[in-house]
Amino acid sequence: MLPYGRQWIDEADVAAVTEVLTSDWLTTGPWVRDFERALAARGQAAHAVSCTSGTAALHMAYAAAGIGPGDEVITTPLTYVATASGAMHCGATVVFADIEEDTGNLDPTAVEAAVSTRTTVITAVDYAGQPADMDRLTAIAHRIGALTVEDAAHSVGSTYKGRPVGSLADLTTFSFFPTKNMTTAEGGAVLTDDDMLAARADEFHKIGVSRDRSTYRHPDEGTWWYEVPSIGLNYRLSDVHAALGLSQLGRLADFTARRAALFARYREALAGVDGLRLPAVRSWAEPTWHLYPVRILGGRRREVFDKLREAGIGVQVNYIPVYWHPVFEDLGYRRGMCPKAEQYYREEISLPMFARLSYDEQDRVIEVLRGILGA
Ligand SMILES: *Cc1c(COP(=O)(O)O)cnc(C)c1O
Repeated sequence: MLPYGRQWIDEADVAAVTEVLTSDWLTTGPWVRDFERALAARGQAAHAVSCTSGTAALHMAYAAAGIGPGDEVITTPLTYVATASGAMHCGATVVFADIEEDTGNLDPTAVEAAVSTRTTVITAVDYAGQPADMDRLTAIAHRIGALTVEDAAHSVGSTYKGRPVGSLADLTTFSFFPTKNMTTAEGGAVLTDDDMLAARADEFHKIGVSRDRSTYRHPDEGTWWYEVPSIGLNYRLSDVHAALGLSQLGRLADFTARRAALFARYREALAGVDGLRLPAVRSWAEPTWHLYPVRILGGRRREVFDKLREAGIGVQVNYIPVYWHPVFEDLGYRRGMCPKAEQYYREEISLPMFARLSYDEQDRVIEVLRGILGA
């Protein structure tokens, strides 16, 4: 089965990991520090805190933002459940606002309508790799004293109006799962310009332990002393994973270029096919494309999905609207809340898209899809 996404590990990646395995540091060592510095530089953010997954990164971002019971987080339903569940782990309430019908990104106009006096965070997702309209979303958030979180699990390496993802929101979260734009096997990161938010994210992912003497309540103890001002979790990334990440980050520009070439080939080969809608691209977006999401019109999505799978093409659906899951139903969320996201879900199929996808493999996907659609 041709997968919809997969990693690309080369010999330099293997050598980087092997070097760590025989060093003094398997975790909390120099590779973590260097990976974080490189991530921050690449995203033009003052700080990057690495962690064990994109899910952990979202939890850390919400914890750093200080949200809790009574607070509302506005986000999109067209995402992976972690975008919402991270806020729920902090005790906050999730409010879903609808998407822009063409890009699949959170619609600032819908966010405006969903804002309340309890809104503390607005979380966008850069669907498929294309940045959400972060300038408009940030303007809304800052007007009401809220923060923006950008779930950039899809958009590591993307730019918006010439600025890199990582520099757009108050807090940006990455995922380095193998299908994403670059990988550490499992891994993620939080980027921010704000010293306080970075310190809180860092502390939270180190079990809540503070080693900043200047902030101690009891500063007169010995040098062994440390304090736990609030509870956290162990979400630390190991140096083994960080070494892979540092090596992969060096290859990200190449991955971006290859994904862009595949995107252009799909667009060219599938343009004008009846019953098919191709992804919309904003003029200000320069994405690293994580997905190639097409829309199957005329109620044929299920049939087309099954036929692609039967032909050995490992397509996916991104995403089931988050509030359709039983845990949200049980909390009282109902279908129909965000009709554009639900319609997007009903039509969407993600075609194979990854840096190592060959043009021959891609041509087969195109041929099979055109055949199914009778084009
Ligand atoms: C993959 C993904 C996550 C979670 O990342 P993990 O590293 O798998 O925990 C969160 N949000 C979105 C939009 C994702 O695609």
